[in-house]
Amino acid sequence: MESETLFNEEVEPPGSLTEFTATQNQTDGCVDLFNFPQRPSLVVLKNVRRLTLFQDSPKSEFFRNRFFPNISRNEWHDWRWQLRNRIRDVHLLSQIVRLSEKERYAMTHQGRSLPVAITPYYASLLDENDSLQSIRRTVIPISDEFIHKPEEAYDPLDEEENTPTEGIVHRYPDRVLFLVTNACPTYCRYCTRSRMVGNHSRQCFDAVHWDKAISYIAANKNIRDVLLSGGDPLALPDKKLEWLLSRLRKIPHVELLRIGTKAPAVLPQRITPDLTRMLKRFHPLWISIHVTHPGELTPEMSQACARLADAGIPLGSQTVLLSGINDDVDTMKKLVHGLLQIRVKPYYLYQCDPIPGSSHFRTKVSKGLEIIEGLRGHTTGYAVPTYVIDAPGGGGKIPLLPEYVLGRRGDDIIIRNYQGRLYHYPDGDQAVAEIH
Ligand code: SF4
Repeated sequence: MESETLFNEEVEPPGSLTEFTATQNQTDGCVDLFNFPQRPSLVVLKNVRRLTLFQDSPKSEFFRNRFFPNISRNEWHDWRWQLRNRIRDVHLLSQIVRLSEKERYAMTHQGRSLPVAITPYYASLLDENDSLQSIRRTVIPISDEFIHKPEEAYDPLDEEENTPTEGIVHRYPDRVLFLVTNACPTYCRYCTRSRMVGNHSRQCFDAVHWDKAISYIAANKNIRDVLLSGGDPLALPDKKLEWLLSRLRKIPHVELLRIGTKAPAVLPQRITPDLTRMLKRFHPLWISIHVTHPGELTPEMSQACARLADAGIPLGSQTVLLSGINDDVDTMKKLVHGLLQIRVKPYYLYQCDPIPGSSHFRTKVSKGLEIIEGLRGHTTGYAVPTYVIDAPGGGGKIPLLPEYVLGRRGDDIIIRNYQGRLYHYPDGDQAVAEIH
């Protein structure tokens, strides 16, 4: 797929539907992150900037013409414009989709602290009339979010227990999770960190906190792997991200840098040539992309992943198993096949964490096992993710597999293949001795 390359002056100040601009001054509590200037500075205006635009999918082009008729392609493909114009309230949302009663109730009543925010690009993927459409269910709340079950917890993974300094989760000896922001371009209703993501009352993640977190990593020589997460690290401007990565790269014992992000799926415009040029300076750098459903695998996302892969960044996916959204073999097969085609290795399939109001999203573990059973042996091995439960109480990721070892007979183990046929494998001391 070819992208169109344009040489252009800095984009015009953004315009939009009048009613859309009226409420776009809300923030997530991290004001500076999304408070991009509405007008380019004189200095910027003098510079000729190279804009490389994605090819539009027919769906997003139709949506832009319908709801943002005064917006140029340049503006639509400017990730900062997308962030400034996120859909965040019932008034705007109801102009784009026909809200069900459950959705309207959730949008108008105070529920969990996780706000609603949907980039115009991602909104273009939503079905206007079907409130049960898979990806629509992941971003528009419903009243079921208000149902809290006894087994649910705000911090089910006990991350706060494993936080030695603000922003660091240190659970495994050789690696840390570095939460660098609490903002995301689009908020997922099942978010494990909904206790802090987009939360006004939580302190912002700024240079002071980052400094302390980096000092912690520098002081702990056993940390060889740092995963930047949040929130979404790619919600940060390039300069801030570059500052973080360059500070971390200077720590001799940090071998591997990783970024966890949903930007390629909800804001593919964020993957600019400038960003990929900057990221490739910090190799080895890996990116895990949060992907939920094959409906997200658009031409725009494909082009965003191509830019990252062409920059030499290995890409893996992380998917949360969600009831009625992606919990069947066919949907998951479409997803993993589509991911391989855009050079993303399906990495983890997560059992949904029991956060408050998540019961309508959670499936039985047997569903996940059934999906792995339906993939393993039936498709390319690279396409099969590892199915894990992140153990409540902070036990870390525990892999789950269907039963393939059925028992022993004498020195043999009895194993089952993907078709259910039984095989023996010599596994006694005798067999080992003969090999040697
Ligand atoms: S992108 Fe990740 S951190 Fe942000 S809301 Fe979704 S699940 Fe949570």
